[in-house]
Amino acid sequence: MKDIVKGFLSFQANVFPERRELFRGLASSQSPKALFISCSDSRLVPELVTQQDPGQLFVIRNAGNIIPPFGPEPGGVSATIEYAVLALGVSDIIICGHSNCGAMKAIATCQCLDNMPAVSHWLRYADAAKSVVEDKSHASEEDKVNAMVQENVIAQLYNIRTHPSVAVALRNRTIRLHGWVYDIETGVIHALEHMSERFVLLSENPDTFFE
Ligand SMILES: [Zn+2]
Repeated sequence: MKDIVKGFLSFQANVFPERRELFRGLASSQSPKALFISCSDSRLVPELVTQQDPGQLFVIRNAGNIIPPFGPEPGGVSATIEYAVLALGVSDIIICGHSNCGAMKAIATCQCLDNMPAVSHWLRYADAAKSVVEDKSHASEEDKVNAMVQENVIAQLYNIRTHPSVAVALRNRTIRLHGWVYDIETGVIHALEHMSERFVLLSENPDTFFE
């Protein structure tokens, strides 16, 4: 905890004064262009890997970058999506999984989660991806986890379309959905290509989007 407070003191003394104008401009309003949905994993930092300043990304993070389908009792993820689309008018939604994801590993390797009932329940929102992965054979456990990470991004891209605000924006073509997977070791991002439903290098396909 001491490191965290030390970091804040350094921010206050060194970083904030240099960027005072940016923060003054952001003091009373925000207009982020994108909603970035990623895993809570400490190794994936959305603003760092996309080099975005404060005010530029509206962010949802949770275990496994999961988006429950819209239902009769919408929760925090649903409310945040609705706010991003209707109040902020974001033009892009990025769902970003990552390599070595603990949540996806737990699903792919059928780890017992009896001692974590909330996690176990939450990961059921990735059941569609799990079934797709289980339906195929994989050369190694690592390959299976990687497949789970990718299929989960695809499953969540379908889940988010069940949210009324997103459905309307897609129909009106005012929003684009992007499915990404970030590799921790290499810093590479693969993006889901709409036509082929394959993950391709974002660096070589910067205009790729899912829908
Ligand atoms: Zn993760």
